[in-house]
Parts: sequence; structure tokens; C-alpha cells
Amino acid sequence: ADFSKGAAFSDGKFVPAGEAAISVLDWGFTRSDVTYDVVHVRDGAFFRLQDHLDRFERSLKGLRLSPPSSMAEIGEIAMRCVALSGLRDSYVAMICTRGRPRIFGSRRPQDCDNKLIVYAIPWIDVIPLDVQERGAHLHIASVPRIASASIDPTIKNYHWGDLTRGLFEAHDAGADTAVLLDAEGFVTEGPGFNVFIVKDGEVLTPDRGVLEGITRRSVLELCGMLGIPARIAPLTSDDLASADEMFCTTTAGGVMPVSRIGDHIMGNGRPGGVSLRLKSSYWKQHKAGWHQTPVDYSIKTTS
Ligand code: PMP
Repeated sequence: ADFSKGAAFSDGKFVPAGEAAISVLDWGFTRSDVTYDVVHVRDGAFFRLQDHLDRFERSLKGLRLSPPSSMAEIGEIAMRCVALSGLRDSYVAMICTRGRPRIFGSRRPQDCDNKLIVYAIPWIDVIPLDVQERGAHLHIASVPRIASASIDPTIKNYHWGDLTRGLFEAHDAGADTAVLLDAEGFVTEGPGFNVFIVKDGEVLTPDRGVLEGITRRSVLELCGMLGIPARIAPLTSDDLASADEMFCTTTAGGVMPVSRIGDHIMGNGRPGGVSLRLKSSYWKQHKAGWHQTPVDYSIKTTS
């Protein structure tokens, strides 16, 4: 088998990522009844693997999903997917779907056998590199983020209907991507990333309606290390409109500068100094081995 384009673990077997399949009857597909997490490998090492496993475990508990493997086993499976692929830079997803009911026609989630899928594919940037370079243009979506009381944003989920509508709006408006406000007008997050603003030298990120991003956590830690004041706070579109700088954070991209939010152009349309400092220190810390677990590329067995 050719694992060079990625390796997946599905139904208890390791297969090339493109061959891993899921039933059309799986509730993950028909109901978005699924959770996932994404961790990355850079230069042959996982970044914050245990933090991602811990968040995945919290998400599983939150949705009352129990995969057929333990958390430690899932960590090893992820390691083996990367080893099999040989990828030095990889996007590694772990997914647990509700699966299918054991009893045909049952509508009871309790009757389902939950399914685990893990895969490692080549690195992906949520915002393309050339766009990151000039600073992304963000659109403030008119569609509100789904209510946290209905879909808990701290549980990583594929309820992306609102985010996808935001993306279409953004592209129609000529922007690169979107940020969504909640029904009360507070800033939340975007399709695949948390957001930050910089104002009067202070770094701020929304306190509600967001996934507790691991990159967001890393940026807050980096601010502490670099002596940059940082705070988690309620933010409104007025805060966006008066921001000196803005950036997005995600596992699949790191710190991604923004140069325009709605009509507000920041820093003469270029990424800001604090954003660039955090971006470069994020990758510098990676190189220095910060929060890393090296991949053992010798484990290439598929059984
Ligand atoms: N919010 C949403 C909705 C996301 O999908 C992601 C991507 N995982 C993030 C935030 C960023 O989280 P992290 O830094 O852990 O990748």
C-alpha cells in the first residue's frame, strides 16, 4: 500500500488515507453526531499531543461518545499513522462518530456502535500562505454563530452550517474568510480559527462562544513569555473596528495575521508588528522543541 499521501486508521485497520471510508448510514454523516480533534506534526514532532488528546477526551465525554480505543491507544494510533505516511509536516485528525445502531431502525443513540477514525495527511494551511503574508481580509458575517447553549463550541464539532454560510458571505464580499458574532453581538470565532485583536499594545481574545483553541492557549502563553499584556475579554464589532492589529489562530496555520476586518484597514494593509512577533516566536519555539513529542518513524507495521 502507498501511504505517502497519508495514512488512516479505520475499522481497526491502517489503510492509505484516501481509502478510509464511512457508511452513509453513520450518524456522523446524517446528524453531524461526531466530534474530532486536529493536532499537527511539524519537522517530525507532534505539537501539544497530550493537550489535543485531553481536549478530544472532554469532547467525547460531552457528547457521550466512547470510541473502541483508549486515549493512550489513540495517541499511539496517531503516531503510527504519521510514521506510516513518513510525513515530516502533517495534519492529524482523530474523529469519533456515533456510528450506526446495532438494532436496525433504532433511533436511540445508546444503540449505536461508535466509530473511531484517525488519519495523517500532508500539512494544510486554513488560510493560504500568500494570504497570510499580506494579511487576511476578514468579513464580519451577518449570520450569527449558533447559540452556545445549543451546540457547545468548546466541544469540537462539525456543526459548520453557520460558519460555512459566513464563508460564502465573505467570498461574495471579496474577503478571504469570516468572523461570526453571537446573537448578542459579541465576537466569537471563524471557520477553523480563533481570533485576536491588538489594541493599545494589549492582546485580546473573545471570552465566549469559542473553542478553547490550543493555538489560542499557546499564544496566551507566548504573550506571558514575551511580556506582552494579554487578556480574555468580551469583544464587540466596535472593538474590531478600532483594533490596531488582528490575527487568527489555528493548529493548521499557527498565528495568521489579518490586515482588514470589514471596512477597517489596519497597519496600512499589512500584518502588524505584534502579530508578526507572535507568529515568528510561535515557529521559533517549535524549532526549539516547545511542547513537542517526536514521531517514532520506525513503527511502520500495519497490524
Ligand atoms: N475554532 C474553530 C471553530 C475551529 O475549528 C478551530 C480549529 N481547530 C479553532 C477554533 C482553533 O483551534 P486550535 O488552535 O486548537 O486548532
